[in-house]
Amino acid sequence: MDFSFDNTEIAFKSKTNAELKQSYLLFKAIGYNWLVKAGPPLVNTAFTMGLPITGIIKKTVFKQFCGGESMNDCDATMNQLYSLGVGTILDYSVEGEEKEEAFNATATETLETITKAKNNPKIPFCVFKVTGLARFDLLAKVTAGESLTSTEESEYGRVKNRIYNICKTAHDNGVRIFIDAEESWIQGAIDDMAHEMMMTFNKERAIVYNTIQLYRHDRLEFLKQSHAHALANQYYLGVKLVRGAYMEKERERAEKMGYPSPIQPNKAASDRDYNEALRFCIQHIDRISICAGSHNEDSSRLLAQLMQEAGIAHNDTRIYFSQLYGMSDHISFNLSHVGYNVAKYLPYGPVKAVMPYLFRRAAENTSVKGQAGRELSLISREVARRKN
Ligand SMILES: Cc1cc2nc3c(=O)[nH]c(=O)nc-3n(C[C@H](O)[C@H](O)[C@H](O)COP(=O)(O)OP(=O)(O)OC[C@H]3O[C@@H](n4cnc5c(N)ncnc54)[C@H](O)[C@@H]3O)c2cc1C
Repeated sequence: MDFSFDNTEIAFKSKTNAELKQSYLLFKAIGYNWLVKAGPPLVNTAFTMGLPITGIIKKTVFKQFCGGESMNDCDATMNQLYSLGVGTILDYSVEGEEKEEAFNATATETLETITKAKNNPKIPFCVFKVTGLARFDLLAKVTAGESLTSTEESEYGRVKNRIYNICKTAHDNGVRIFIDAEESWIQGAIDDMAHEMMMTFNKERAIVYNTIQLYRHDRLEFLKQSHAHALANQYYLGVKLVRGAYMEKERERAEKMGYPSPIQPNKAASDRDYNEALRFCIQHIDRISICAGSHNEDSSRLLAQLMQEAGIAHNDTRIYFSQLYGMSDHISFNLSHVGYNVAKYLPYGPVKAVMPYLFRRAAENTSVKGQAGRELSLISREVARRKN
């Protein structure tokens, strides 16, 4: 391979010494399980009481993982990423809204990200979450195959209109768009809409991408079925491959409601299917475009190796690597340094509204053996290297 994830000089080129120190302290803090557990209720209470905590959040965890409160706030970060060969995926991360006005506002915001991405090499993809455009319980009802009341039918019609408008605008402006994957009990509705949109807008190339979560034991098969469907209906399949972000919630619900968990029995099984999915996509690259959304070094290395074996150029536009902003810079920047296509999700939105996203990042970074430990040791190595 012509890169090494151990190269911390390339990984942290954009960070000043002071910024590295700040990141170190932050990852150290979120490595404390108790702090991360106590954080969400404390922060929520502080917001309810009107305490002035926005400033401190903005200077710490928000700065590490987000681009700003508005799309334009993200310009500085976007330019910096682009100067290092990395694209930006503007991710309007307002979550948990359940009202029509909020869904319309999110749709409008998503359309604006598409306008900004048009002919803009700094923004190779846009993205949305269906729960930003639809009521969770409505999606659950559709996924469960329950019949809708006439009011719900028209509500669902409005959801489909929002999604159609977004995908059509993406198509008409030549902007590729990801549909994020969510909980399994609403994913059926999301998959059906994603397939409909891909059938409509992916006739010439992959514009709309569905997301496949390989921590589910049925998803490798689903990927193969999606490929067969794309072949039979003559469209290009776009897939973002991820392991999946809702494991504990999935297992808890399955246990509580007494059905078999949709999640793989162990991490090794998720890794195996994720890597198998990469192999399958590369074997069928004439029909599938992929984005590997992962912080896993082995999977990222494997994809580079599979590309090499298949004689695929580093910068082939059908293949992207993607990480979240503020995490795994050693993967993003070392890959982009040797010419692979890399883009980072850059979440943005009002501080209070992006808190659920930030709590998830903190939770996933608590394991000392996991991400936080890795980030800390990479930063320490870079600090030591700079001193020499
Ligand atoms: C660009 C990008 C986009 C993303 N989009 C989405 C999205 O649309 N939907 C979504 O759900 N997630 C999304 N994610 C998050 C992703 O699903 C993972 O949670 C996260 O990236 C961690 O997985 P990993 O591949 O980076 O690597 P690793 O750190 O190697 O893997 C951790 C993951 O492995 C799985 N896992 C861990 N322990 C076990 C176990 N005991 N049994 C079975 N599986 C286990 C879990 O999925 C866990 O998150 C995205 C991530 C990125 C980087």
